[in-house]
Amino acid sequence: MLNLEKIENILADAKSDSIQVKEILAKASVSNGLTLEESAVLLSVKDRDVLHEIYHTAGSVKEKVFGRRVFVFAPLYLSNYCTNNCLYCGFRIDNKDAVRKALTRDEVIAEAKTLEDMGFKRALLVCGEDNKISGLDFILNSIDAIYKNTGIRILHINAPPMNVEDLKTLKVSGVGVYQVFQETYHKSTYEKMHPSGSKKDYHYRRSVMDRSIEAGFEDVGIGALLGLYDYRYDALAVISHSQYLFERFGTHAHTISVPRLRPASGSPIKGMPYPVTDEDFKKIVAVYRLSVPSAGVVVSTRESAGLRDKVLQIGASQISAGSKTEPGGYAQEVKSQKSKVKSKVAEQFATDDHRTIEEMIVSIAKNGLMPSLCTTCYRVGRTGASFTNKTLAGDMNRFCHANAILTLQEYILDHAKNGAWEIGKAVIEKGIDEIKEEKLKKDVLKKLEDIKAGKRDVYV
Ligand code: SAM
Ligand code: SF4
Repeated sequence: MLNLEKIENILADAKSDSIQVKEILAKASVSNGLTLEESAVLLSVKDRDVLHEIYHTAGSVKEKVFGRRVFVFAPLYLSNYCTNNCLYCGFRIDNKDAVRKALTRDEVIAEAKTLEDMGFKRALLVCGEDNKISGLDFILNSIDAIYKNTGIRILHINAPPMNVEDLKTLKVSGVGVYQVFQETYHKSTYEKMHPSGSKKDYHYRRSVMDRSIEAGFEDVGIGALLGLYDYRYDALAVISHSQYLFERFGTHAHTISVPRLRPASGSPIKGMPYPVTDEDFKKIVAVYRLSVPSAGVVVSTRESAGLRDKVLQIGASQISAGSKTEPGGYAQEVKSQKSKVKSKVAEQFATDDHRTIEEMIVSIAKNGLMPSLCTTCYRVGRTGASFTNKTLAGDMNRFCHANAILTLQEYILDHAKNGAWEIGKAVIEKGIDEIKEEKLKKDVLKKLEDIKAGKRDVYV
């Protein structure tokens, strides 16, 4: 199991000596990851110049492992009913002012279709915990509704911890990544933040990734909610958790998310109990990238546009766009543009980056990166240890680069209205030039013609 006492000792010993930092960065630059002691040294750095060296190395490791690609997705909230009482969350049971909503099957389809119309191919299902209203059957019915009735190609999920049997059933339903955040690994803070409901059980939550891998999920997502406790402790615990999964199951966490505490209506928590500045946030993203190079580092719309653009250069590889954190929020937004009636359903927390998927795609491209809407790996079994090994060996790059080009071509043909067309075409041309293998280049050019002729869901 995770040895968290060790973390306190490691942090107490970590000194950010600039010679040591240089040695650690030299080691990190070959994408082999870092020990907890090395990660702790980087997390302790405060000097701006040294921080810039860390960011620079993290940016180059990101490019070695994932190329210039940035994966774009949207969360889809199914229900905001919740029997837990997480003090920081707008869905908590004690928030009596919250207007509750669990989407019907038709509403789930409408919500997913709205995302599809915007150009999304991948959605992250999210829901509160209420076994009577939004338990496993509700989730399975929602997944079935989306796969059968919409063009969303892969669903990942951020849902409450389950037992192995339920996780097996969830896996069979076609979910790609199963994601649960520990919130804080610091037990007494955890217990303070979760005073009632089943989430109160720290160990049941912390062991959920073991159960989900046993149940057949090869790709799991972890994270700590930054701001609840000392970020150095929680970030190191996340790294330690991923290392533990690797030692036990042969695969690191597929994704590491960096949620940072945001204001939530009805929450007694004002501000962050342990503040995490933007500079701290950038450092955490960079250290995750260097410590677990194969992991997708996911940055949500909790963060501002400016900060999100910056972290894409220093290690983040997945980004949500245009997010709504209330069930039915996307379809309602389209309706209210016509009727001017705003949704009253409670949102989980306030988002900060309100850019649409198209604005996000344009911004990614303008920053010299390549937006990707690819969903191939999860559907052709490039997952788990095989994904990790291929990614680290650089073998995924050729497929992923080609598939980013193909999905961007689909996107600009079907959805570009406000600027993504021109810049998207330029990114595609540059991307084709970068393909060194003649056979692959020929295949991609042929597939681009197929897409222009109307074929969809084309990949290598
Ligand atoms: N209810 C499930 C759970 O708690 O695991 C599933 C998803 S919950 C809706 C998703 C995540 O949102 C939580 O794990 C938490 O980290 C995050 N979250 C909750 N309140 C937040 C807030 N005020 N600011 C930022 N993130 C928040
Ligand atoms: Fe419920 Fe999850 Fe919010 Fe906690 S974080 S109150 S479990 S929705």
